[in-house]
Amino acid sequence: MATNLENKITAINATLCQWLAVDEDQILGQHIKALLTKPSQILFLGNILPTLQQNQKTEENYLQFKVQGAQPQPFMVNVKQIEHDGRMYFSYALMKMDRRYLIEEQLIKERKRAEEISREKERLNCELQSAQQQLIVKQDELLRLNKTLQLLTVTDSLTGLPNRRAYDQEIERKLAYFKRHQRCFCLIIFDIDRFKHVNDTFGHDSGDSVLKQIAKVLQVTIREIDVLARIGGEEFAIILPNTGLQTAAEVAERCRSSIHHATFVCGQVTASFGVADSHKNDSKEDIYRRADESLYQAKQQGRNQVVMTSTVECQ
Ligand code: GH3
Ligand code: MG
Ligand code: MG
Repeated sequence: MATNLENKITAINATLCQWLAVDEDQILGQHIKALLTKPSQILFLGNILPTLQQNQKTEENYLQFKVQGAQPQPFMVNVKQIEHDGRMYFSYALMKMDRRYLIEEQLIKERKRAEEISREKERLNCELQSAQQQLIVKQDELLRLNKTLQLLTVTDSLTGLPNRRAYDQEIERKLAYFKRHQRCFCLIIFDIDRFKHVNDTFGHDSGDSVLKQIAKVLQVTIREIDVLARIGGEEFAIILPNTGLQTAAEVAERCRSSIHHATFVCGQVTASFGVADSHKNDSKEDIYRRADESLYQAKQQGRNQVVMTSTVECQ
């Protein structure tokens, strides 16, 4: 709808005519007041019109329009001043309030839905975070278990010492290091003397306790860098890095003496020792064989003693 600046209606479209149940001819030239209920006339003249005259526009005004033969109808009204063919007009845009309510209702619904989605997103994010944390904890646990498992595969369950597999790995490492850096290392093999007799006389459990005690006694006798391993039933090995044959024989002698002077459940126990040093191009079998030959010799010569193979390779 449009009016001139004296608020006389100059144009009205068919939709508004239909809403108000009036004819266009009836309306054109009338003051806009004629369309409004009394309270809306007061509102229009006292409030809307002054704003319109001052700002050339006014928005979101609620006005009741009379409808022929029916109840007045509320409208939301926006008005702005426009120029057309060199003349000034007020241009009215009207929206039925029920339609506005509908749109507002829809907007509220959309906003609620958006809020729900945002809350759901936040909840899922929290869940994701907690799942990620759980995953980290589980991964740590798995790593720990793997380490324990790894440790178990290289540990002798009776004595807690490195087992045969650990010994094999260690001797391979030492041989590789020796090849690269020519740093001599030594191997001591020892075997408990007449251990079968210990078992036969005092029982297998006593035999086990002797094995455990020997592990304890020797762990404090050897150096931190030396590796003591249980490589067979009552057979042990000590790998001594950066050590010459003479020193290794002294360590072996100290070990022999420690065992000899310890008190076991079965009384006294002794062991025989064979010592060998690393040679160029040794395999792990080569160095073991030489140490074992010395051990055999120690047994042959009466046990409870240390025998070392003579060497030309390392000083
Ligand atoms: P030698 O002085 O020649 O070494 O005599 P030995 O009796 O020690 O040697 P032999 O090889 O005849 O016997 C070794 C014994 O060690 C036999 C076996 O029952 C015992 N043995 C091996 N492993 C274990 C073990 O884990 N626990 C116990 N209690 N005894 C074991
Ligand atoms: Mg044996
Ligand atoms: Mg033995």
